[in-house]
Amino acid sequence: MRSLAIMGGTFDPIHYGHLVAAEQARHSFQCEKVLFVPAKSPPHKDNSRISPVEHRLAMTRLAVDTNRYFEVSTLEIERPGPSYAIDTVKEVKKIYNPEKLYFITGADAVLEIISWKNVEELLSACYFVAATRPGYDISNLRQKLNVLPAEYLKKIIPTYIPALAISSTDIRKRVRAGESIKYLLPEPVERYIKNHRLYL
Ligand code: ATP
Ligand code: MG
Repeated sequence: MRSLAIMGGTFDPIHYGHLVAAEQARHSFQCEKVLFVPAKSPPHKDNSRISPVEHRLAMTRLAVDTNRYFEVSTLEIERPGPSYAIDTVKEVKKIYNPEKLYFITGADAVLEIISWKNVEELLSACYFVAATRPGYDISNLRQKLNVLPAEYLKKIIPTYIPALAISSTDIRKRVRAGESIKYLLPEPVERYIKNHRLYL
């Protein structure tokens, strides 16, 4: 395989921000596949507030169904212990052996990689597509990343995503407050949330 992208996330729930970022990266870097990898127990989040993985996985499957380049991978869910990006990258490389591997994250999430374990190994293994909002100050991100050697900095590619204002946190809040979440995420996911009475 020439080019492959990983879209990791909690997906609680998955929304159009994730889908637009993934589609934009797929097109920009001509990826043959985008793997959506729902996290089992992200080390940087309070696990008790995260929905059961069965729900997050089901919603992710519903959301990617209409894009033939999108696929859901359960490799983080099935791997024992906490989920680290480097383990996922290594596993994906072993399975697909892509010439180029891209890891799609929000620009803010990229800043977390500095504190991730094995950051240098991670940046030598793949590119990072840092989704930013039009108008977002990239120089700020660059400045914060400046502690990294230039060869690694080059592996972080800022990319503008128009749907960046959408977040899972906001969607959960809206559901709780009885507000509409229509047009923020795919309809089958919206129906799933209603049917399973999530986020109430
Ligand atoms: P939460 O509000 O619970 O943190 P989230 O909306 O940030 O949820 P995550 O599952 O945490 O969703 O995000 C997975 C990845 O997608 C992260 O790298 C995050 O930065 C990125 N992302 C989230 N929302 C958007 C968006 N609207 N546009 C582009 N990327 C996004
Ligand atoms: Mg987030």
